[in-house]
Amino acid sequence: MTEPALIKGNTSSAKVWGQFILAIATAQSELALCHAVADYLPQFIPADRVSVTRLISDGKAFEVFVVNGEKQVLAEGEQLPFDQVNLQAVIKTQRPHLTQIHPDSPYLDLAELAKQGIVMTISVPLNVLGQTIGSLNVAAKTMLLDHPDIIELIEQIATLLAMNLERQSLYDQTQFAMERYRSYTDQLRILNEIGCQLSAAVTKAEVFDTISQAISQVINVDRVSYAVPMDDVQGFQIFRFSGNNYIPTDIVIPAAGSGLEHTYQTGRPTFFDLSDQRYSEHRILASFGLKVGWSVPVRISNQIIGILNAASSRTDLDGQEQLDLLTTLGGLMGATLERIAVQDEAAMILKEIAYQARYDTLTNLPNRALFYQQLEDALAAGQSNDQQLAVLFIDLDRFKHINDTLGHTIGDKLLCAIAKQLQQIFPSSDTVARLGGDEFVVLLPQINHPQAVAQTAQTILTALETPLQVDGHSIFLGGSIGISLFPAHGTTPGTLMKHADIAMYHAKEQGRNNYQFYDAKLSTRLQRRIAIEHALRDAIANDELSLVFHPQICLTSGNIEGLEALVRWKNSALGSIHPDQFIPIAEESGLIEALSDWVLDQSLDTIKRLRRSHPELYVAVNFSAQEFSSVTSFLNRVITTLRKHQLPASALELEITESVFLQAEATTKQLMQALKAEGIRIAIDDFGTGFSSLSYLVNLPLDILKIDRSFIHRLGHDPRNDGIVRGTIEIAKSLGMACVAEGVETLEQLSQLQQLGCQCCQGFLFSKPVPASELDALLQQDLNPLMTTS
Ligand code: C2E
Ligand code: MG
Ligand code: MG
Repeated sequence: MTEPALIKGNTSSAKVWGQFILAIATAQSELALCHAVADYLPQFIPADRVSVTRLISDGKAFEVFVVNGEKQVLAEGEQLPFDQVNLQAVIKTQRPHLTQIHPDSPYLDLAELAKQGIVMTISVPLNVLGQTIGSLNVAAKTMLLDHPDIIELIEQIATLLAMNLERQSLYDQTQFAMERYRSYTDQLRILNEIGCQLSAAVTKAEVFDTISQAISQVINVDRVSYAVPMDDVQGFQIFRFSGNNYIPTDIVIPAAGSGLEHTYQTGRPTFFDLSDQRYSEHRILASFGLKVGWSVPVRISNQIIGILNAASSRTDLDGQEQLDLLTTLGGLMGATLERIAVQDEAAMILKEIAYQARYDTLTNLPNRALFYQQLEDALAAGQSNDQQLAVLFIDLDRFKHINDTLGHTIGDKLLCAIAKQLQQIFPSSDTVARLGGDEFVVLLPQINHPQAVAQTAQTILTALETPLQVDGHSIFLGGSIGISLFPAHGTTPGTLMKHADIAMYHAKEQGRNNYQFYDAKLSTRLQRRIAIEHALRDAIANDELSLVFHPQICLTSGNIEGLEALVRWKNSALGSIHPDQFIPIAEESGLIEALSDWVLDQSLDTIKRLRRSHPELYVAVNFSAQEFSSVTSFLNRVITTLRKHQLPASALELEITESVFLQAEATTKQLMQALKAEGIRIAIDDFGTGFSSLSYLVNLPLDILKIDRSFIHRLGHDPRNDGIVRGTIEIAKSLGMACVAEGVETLEQLSQLQQLGCQCCQGFLFSKPVPASELDALLQQDLNPLMTTS
């Protein structure tokens, strides 16, 4: 069992994030900034290469500015013509651009990256002071980048980079503005201090303090304040000030008639003569002897978020010159506040990503990855303290059925309710985790005796027996629990989990709603069954399934009328596994629908191709009885797939065994009638081996009976057996159904069947099941050996 490697979230990510923020905050040049971003990004996301490219030559080319990771191609300093690279799209659209790379891409950059095994890139524009200066680019050798959280994080970090580049350039401008105050000999020292402090600031208060300190050092002021508009902009409040407490922070300054409102509305930096008493708050300041004041708007993305103010009791100040300086500092303040906001947002996303990598989003319980980590820690502690511990593997007994009948929404709510129940049973020191689906696991880190574990398991079972109320349904589930103990049953997380899993299957076999301890004697059969179930989960994705087709021959014409699709599975570790072995496992573990969907889709694909030369040909697809339990979903699946392949209903036949009649008759009847109305034919497979009641043959709209191959096998050896075959053929005839004999291996069987009036046969005598590639040749042959010999 491997952990999902989607996102690199772990306990240390917050620490690395802190280091990253520090690195960009203390970077003193554009190059150092870009390096910090390129170097840290692969620690947060699955990236194999990070680069920053800059537009040069009036936008006619890109220059690779900084690279981290795969450096063999598109190296630092390399120049790329704008029109020949995929990167141009980022500049043109001004949006993040995700590209899946094809090795034969016409774009220079993509073709180069493909050579290094890169399959996906994301590029985000870098906008500095309203201009796109280049892009931040992330490339990876896996498709894992294509995840909304990752893309959002890259965007945030690109914004962060852009803002820091902007800060760097504003800093240069400030330096320019300050140079005019030649009289201040220590101006450079002050400026350096502001630069360092601002880039390290993480709160609004720290930013203000730095700015106000700088103002006080450069201009002779008595008070500096920062006012923010209230939510309704009906008033302002002093967020923070330095100097005298003339207007405290808890007072609301009404907007009407205030100097703040004047600056807010005009959006312009303003120098005020406080003695003219025009504005309300100026009258207060004037009453304390202040003579002049300056107010400058502070903006984030062109929106005024606050007003920076200074006031002085001196009368000899040249207001305009100081206003220039304050304006620059106001700009620096806005840029810094914006940088902090983006930084906080990015940190939130990262936290969310890290959380999702370790917690189950539905129930908020730890997920498999975190559980493994906790188990590992507990094992290490157990080993050093000589402590036993237990792993309890819990599988809900009837969950699949509830999900199918009441729907996924209720299923999800049920899982949350179960999670709550389990959390109530276990205090925080014991871990309850959800592994996925309806599987939960509990870690008991300190146990003295297996008897205590047994009691705990019983407590869980009793809790699961209590009906849960979900959306007006009273649902009873029950569970099966498997237990493994450290050190008796294993010393690593892997073996303890595997053995608890095996014990859980044993509990299921024992009739569910019970618990079992792992026992080394538990059959290897059980182990194989579990291995099959685990491997089967990935069989479709890993392309391990294939189909063979078995012809159904019309005895009167000698032609192939239809083909039965039979699934085959070959797994690299388990070898070839027979459908009789894995189909029941697929049914029990809830994988059958996905498997059937795959078979149906592939079968229709093949038959579509063959019908170009054989327009009447149909394909018979096997379905499991349990798939018939939901009328609309089954009907939808079949009809949607037929439509997808643009095939008429007559191209498909459904094979289903008699066990379908063990289910609620009303539902089965409803579904069969709906299928019939669509024109889809239904065959009863393995007829005679299962639930033998003839009444359903009369009541349900069935089209075909397939006589099981065990009857055909005994044909001619046992008169009673022959009687059953004859009877079945007669019943089919009298009910207007077709009849197919399965498993015809000899000429004797064939001629007897022909005498009994059977119209259609299937068996090794005609052909073995063959892969789709051999069907064209097979369809050319005349397959009835009796016809060709006669
Ligand atoms: P089935 O639907 O009754 O399929 C007929 C089985 O009988 C096939 O075995 C076929 O190879 C075998 N057979 C046909 N003619 C002869 C013959 O002359 N002699 C002998 N000895 N055998 C013959 P296969 O492919 O192993 O399939 C076994 C069962 O697995 C199928 O029985 C069906 O119940 C299930 N199965 C196969 N594919 C699928 C599928 O895609 N979905 C589902 N739900 N079940 C499937
Ligand atoms: Mg069949
Ligand atoms: Mg059969």
